[in-house]
Amino acid sequence: MFKALLLEQEGKATVSSVQELDDSHLPEGEVTVAVEYSSLNYKDGLAITGKGKIVRNFPMVPGIDFAGTVIDSASPDFSQGDKVILTGWGVGESHWGGMAQKARVKARQLVKMPEGLDSRNAMMIGTAGLTAMLCVMALEQSGVTPEQGEILVTGASGGVGTVSVALLAKLGYDVVTVSGRPENSAMLVNLGAKLILPRNRFEEPARPLDKQLWAGAVDTVGSKLLAKVLSEMNYGGTVAACGLAGGFDLPTTVMPFILRGVNLQGVDSVMCPTDKRIEAWERLVKLLPESFYELACRKVTLEGVAEYAKAITEGQVTGRIIVRV
Ligand code: NDP
Repeated sequence: MFKALLLEQEGKATVSSVQELDDSHLPEGEVTVAVEYSSLNYKDGLAITGKGKIVRNFPMVPGIDFAGTVIDSASPDFSQGDKVILTGWGVGESHWGGMAQKARVKARQLVKMPEGLDSRNAMMIGTAGLTAMLCVMALEQSGVTPEQGEILVTGASGGVGTVSVALLAKLGYDVVTVSGRPENSAMLVNLGAKLILPRNRFEEPARPLDKQLWAGAVDTVGSKLLAKVLSEMNYGGTVAACGLAGGFDLPTTVMPFILRGVNLQGVDSVMCPTDKRIEAWERLVKLLPESFYELACRKVTLEGVAEYAKAITEGQVTGRIIVRV
């Protein structure tokens, strides 16, 4: 028997409960993993509360991330005892996810735990942290260097935001953050932010072009905030856009692109190819300072997930939440 958070649909509502299941309930897959930790991402919040159409079929075990130890494998790539990480691939959406003591998935969806990382710290990073690293790599690939100027991080107190701040600061960039929560300023400064700008500074409708301020940006918010950021990018600057915490629309014009050569680079972690994931995880282990794990993470149990799921959809969670299953 194993414990799992199970989502069921009652009428139009999504209802969650912690249940005891046996192995016959596990879905098809080549590798069975004893999950040690999962984590709570924005997408998990939408799935668990039912606020977003994330779950494709019920009953569903949510959790787009997990880390644990292989207990059974039909794949030559993994053996019993291997420590593994899973993020994305639709797990926790259309296939049972990580908020359970056991999970069964396809071998190609797993990456081996990098040297120097354990399950707990891997989930403190999780999908949010992987996405932050992919955003930083996107800025690097488009040629943004620390000498070119300041990098803006939006939605800074959240999971992607906090990891982005820590990574960029470690790489020597000057990081300016946008946050709607002044109470998180001290944490952001401790993570490496040089300046915190209030969210409302970005909420007036953007002019097509504004004063050039940013060499690069990591945007987790979308909508009018991203439009404002685009209007303030330096000539040739790049925005790595990964999120929609403020909305999925983008009320902008072509001006930043055609007059300033601004690059808008989309970033996706869900279907990201395995070789890029491995590179990103290895860099995360090397770059993230110990202070990140101390400053920006908290632990909950399966029973405590529902409360935080609601909070994350309301923009009220700070940093990363790991789930001890
Ligand atoms: P969090 O909820 O942890 O962080 C989002 C942050 O955005 C909040 O902490 C808040 O920061 C800010 N925010 C919240 N609501 C609003 C709003 N209405 N307007 C402006 N800012 C707001 O989420 P994650 O960090 O886990 O994810 C961030 C976004 O990135 C989500 O949209 C998520 O879906 C997306 N994402 C995309 C991935 C991909 O592969 N493309 C992978 C992972 C996440 P503050 O209070 O400091 O302003």
